[in-house]
Amino acid sequence: MLVLDGKIASAAVKASLLQKTQAIKAAGKRTPHLAAILVGNNGASETYVASKVKNCEETGFGSSLIRFDDHVTEAELLAKISELNVDPTIDGILVQLPLPKHIDDEKIIEAIHPDKDVDGFHPMNIGRMVQGFDTFTPATPYGVLLMLEHFNIQTKGKHVVVIGRSNIVGRPMSILLSGERPQGNAYVTICHRHTPIEETKKMAQQADILIVAVGIPEFITGDMIKPGAVIIDVGITRVEDATAKKGFRIKGDVNYEQAIAKASAVTPVPGGVGLMTIAGLLMNTMKAYEGKFYHN
Ligand code: NAD
Repeated sequence: MLVLDGKIASAAVKASLLQKTQAIKAAGKRTPHLAAILVGNNGASETYVASKVKNCEETGFGSSLIRFDDHVTEAELLAKISELNVDPTIDGILVQLPLPKHIDDEKIIEAIHPDKDVDGFHPMNIGRMVQGFDTFTPATPYGVLLMLEHFNIQTKGKHVVVIGRSNIVGRPMSILLSGERPQGNAYVTICHRHTPIEETKKMAQQADILIVAVGIPEFITGDMIKPGAVIIDVGITRVEDATAKKGFRIKGDVNYEQAIAKASAVTPVPGGVGLMTIAGLLMNTMKAYEGKFYHN
């Protein structure tokens, strides 16, 4: 059984990016720069953004963390995004989701210039992805592709089952894997909250590669896994645990112990897809820096 270790795969991505930034620095040029906007003080969001900033530093990128409190207005956020959109020293912009309820996520995402949309959420970039054009691939599905590539996991002709259909994980994942690309050419089944559970279970049991992004801890148990399958667990849920130092533990969507007894390869949580999401984000930031690929 192979542990699909996100530390190993993301270190390889980061090492190749660091090589590039060192060459950029040696040439006396400015390195890629990511601006991250964080609203409020949600514990999980704080952790994610801090980790993104730290990873930028490790890769030789510049980064700016721009904080707003929970009461920020939509207009104030939009004004900041407009400013960053035209700032020539900023290559990538990300707005950490979720945002407070009084702010329209969609409006914010659409305000980010598509050339700086390193999370790959802008409808223009999603449209390009669907058509198989060069674009910013949404960071989490991109991270999964980088993981599959790193561990040389073949997808061509394989049955991939994706559970979850969100715009940021499940749906783009299913589109990418069914597309004509190196980590693609799979035939894909997608299950979601309206799939009868017995059907989801049946599909999961037939998956050569099972990708789970539902946000329900240990949703996938050993009996739902085909022997020898590859299991990609995207889920990250904080589960209260008084015995843990921080008062919670991070749980994935897959029962890890049961999965490793059945599968040929499994991503751990934490230490799996989460780290690859950051790798995807860094790759996109370098891409944004390297050129406006729209107009090539
Ligand atoms: P979401 O809530 O937007 O979507 C959840 C999806 O699960 C929905 O499409 C829903 O239809 C489906 N679903 C819910 N119950 C189901 C059921 N019983 N059977 C089948 N499908 C069901 O969540 P999301 O943003 O896609 O995130 C999913 C999980 O992945 C969360 O735990 C989130 O924290 C995690 N996540 C991790 C990363 C990472 O970097 N590892 C990135 C993004 C999200």
